[in-house]
Amino acid sequence: MSERGLREPALAALSLQDLDALVARWGEPRYRARQVFEAVQRRGVLDPEDMTTLPLGLRARLADEVGKPATTLQETRQSTDGTAKLLLSLSDGQRVETVIIPGSERRTVCVSTQVGCPIGCIFCASGVPGLVRNLTTAEIVEQVLQAARHLGGGRPSHIVVMGMGEPLLNLGQLEPAIRLWVAKEGLGFSPRRITVSTASTSALVDKLIATGLRVNLAVSLHGPDDATRSRLVPTNRPGQVETLVEAAIRYARRTGRDATVEYVLIAGENDRPEHADALARLLAGRHVHVNLIPLNPVDHRPDLDAPSGLAAKAFARRIAEAGASVTLRARRGDDIEAACGQLALKRAPGTGEGA
Ligand code: SAH
Repeated sequence: MSERGLREPALAALSLQDLDALVARWGEPRYRARQVFEAVQRRGVLDPEDMTTLPLGLRARLADEVGKPATTLQETRQSTDGTAKLLLSLSDGQRVETVIIPGSERRTVCVSTQVGCPIGCIFCASGVPGLVRNLTTAEIVEQVLQAARHLGGGRPSHIVVMGMGEPLLNLGQLEPAIRLWVAKEGLGFSPRRITVSTASTSALVDKLIATGLRVNLAVSLHGPDDATRSRLVPTNRPGQVETLVEAAIRYARRTGRDATVEYVLIAGENDRPEHADALARLLAGRHVHVNLIPLNPVDHRPDLDAPSGLAAKAFARRIAEAGASVTLRARRGDDIEAACGQLALKRAPGTGEGA
């Protein structure tokens, strides 16, 4: 909990222990803490005024001293393939996007951790404004709660921290959010159903290991060597391709999770047979899974294209034949600009400017 005496952070950021302490301080019976926690974290009731099972006095005090939800659902866009994009507005007028990706047996929520992003991968729209600000724990947690509300009875089954922003540069706010998602009195997510994707550094991967959170990790590699990666990920430093792969393997060993690298396929940049061979050599015998993502088009770089479907399959086959484990990701939600790299806070055509 932040500075005592000041307002508590938004309700959605409070752990059960925080709420225990709060109700004890207020002289309320202890079971109220659990009641509030379950209402927020399990049922997604974000506004204390809506907690109709609580006495009026407690509702009012929560509203008064803890305050309003950190996010407000402003707009929903639905893709023809079932993907939905929620546009959430924040208390300072910033906005953030959350994507819900349904599968045959999954309902995956893709959450953002920053407004904008400081990394600036050349093919990703989220980095175009640079870093605007980090999201707070409540703003991160509420994205999943808002998605759960959108889904009605169908709870989210997986969380991927692959929306706007670089998650490990905001680990301080992300870590408590993950702990809230896995809390058994809340949504009770298994950490193996949560994946954090990072384009940062091996040092930050080690920081994630040190939290003891056993979530899945995906490392955004995008090039088999530093020269290629540096052209695509401007923060890349000499030696970083190797240190990131080593960090992914270390992460896998320490946590018992698989190591995955992501590789966005861009025609003419990193999709030639020699790139596939170099990637296969880099990963030979290292038990790292490769997830190939054909580029989703972005407005700010109309010159960048995905390879053809056949070329992408050939790239995947070449890596598989060299003995690596590889999947080619299908594109989802790009008709509403909800696909990887397309989150850029544009409004739907014709909706005008809103609050
Ligand atoms: N910042 C984190 C998480 C967000 S992006 C990271 O970079 O890992 C999740 C994945 O989508 C990353 O691998 C990212 O490189 C990829 N991505 C970004 N823009 C894309 C685009 N236009 N097309 C396809 N994948 C993209």
